[in-house]
Amino acid sequence: MESIYVTKSSLPPMDEYIDEIKEIWETHWLTNMGSKHEKFRELLSDYLESSNVELFTNGHMALELTIQAYDFPKGAEVITTPFTFASTTHAIVRNGLKPVFCDIKSDDYTIDETCIEALITDNTCAIVPVHVYGNICNIEAIEEIARKYHLIVIYDAAHTFGEKYKGKSLALYGDAACYSFHATKVFNSIEGGACCFRKKEIGDHLYDLKNFGIHGPYEVSAVGANAKMNEFCAAMGICNLRHIDEEIERRKKIYTLYMKLLGGVKGIQLNEIPPTVISNYAYFPIVVDETLFGFSRDDIYERLKEKNIFSRKYFYPLTNAFSCYKNTFSADDTPIAKWISERVLTLPMYGTLDISIVEQICKMIRDMYKE
Ligand SMILES: *Cc1c(COP(=O)(O)O)cnc(C)c1O
Repeated sequence: MESIYVTKSSLPPMDEYIDEIKEIWETHWLTNMGSKHEKFRELLSDYLESSNVELFTNGHMALELTIQAYDFPKGAEVITTPFTFASTTHAIVRNGLKPVFCDIKSDDYTIDETCIEALITDNTCAIVPVHVYGNICNIEAIEEIARKYHLIVIYDAAHTFGEKYKGKSLALYGDAACYSFHATKVFNSIEGGACCFRKKEIGDHLYDLKNFGIHGPYEVSAVGANAKMNEFCAAMGICNLRHIDEEIERRKKIYTLYMKLLGGVKGIQLNEIPPTVISNYAYFPIVVDETLFGFSRDDIYERLKEKNIFSRKYFYPLTNAFSCYKNTFSADDTPIAKWISERVLTLPMYGTLDISIVEQICKMIRDMYKE
């Protein structure tokens, strides 16, 4: 039996990609902001409704360099959450800054905005919240806190490609929003990422930072990295962007079916999408409460695995429980995030996922409930 994974990378029709890259054999321009890079940037600018877009080699470098672009004082504190991918926390730490972990809300897994103010000190410089699974943080509350305490807000918007909140692209909220176009995301450029930013100076700085901090032929003005998107990745982004709306439409059908078939199972919490959000249906997380359901998250994971269906314990462990942070942070500081991470499971979700597989997964979970 064919293995089913939690996601399957989108690819455009092969001919489309070949057409798109042909020109590269004429120009021999492979990287360093060539014509594909520029074309992709313009298309994204349109799609994300932001005139300020900078491309990167991946989502992590978008985030890490965006944080760097603000030149926060070394050791300053950044309020964030541990219920995320390694990238968010690492981006803060690699900038010589100190993550201060705020707990999350148990219903949508985003930062609990009511806990932020208590964590603010004289050393706090920024908030890096995560729109986790494409669930949107309480943007208004975060904005108000940021204004009151003069903090920068950089959203980890890796999960939100194509989403809108109150009719506007997520790229337009916060001082900056960072996207990932990794192969496993709703939209991919093989590897890739982007930052949408509010102030033009940040964009100019980012352009330099992704190219070693080179500012002119004889001037290197910052300690930058190499995070430029190459032409082949940009070409893949251009092609996949043509099909993104269909991809999201297909995901919506799968989401709706999961919701229908898993609705009402006691102890299985589903991910509701509020009417203010146009979702991209990036993930299908369930939270399993063993005391009500009768089986644990790990039991479901193992049973699916026996059928060659590979779900994912995402996000488990929390970033503040990583072994590299063993003596620095503790998951006990964020008890709700810890509780969720021990019970959450993301089920297979991608546009070409077979309806019969979704039915099989849901039946298996429902049957366990009856056992
Ligand atoms: C994928 C992801 C990133 C990093 O993106 P890459 O393109 O893989 O570097 C950052 N944050 C979150 C929440 C992600 O899921």
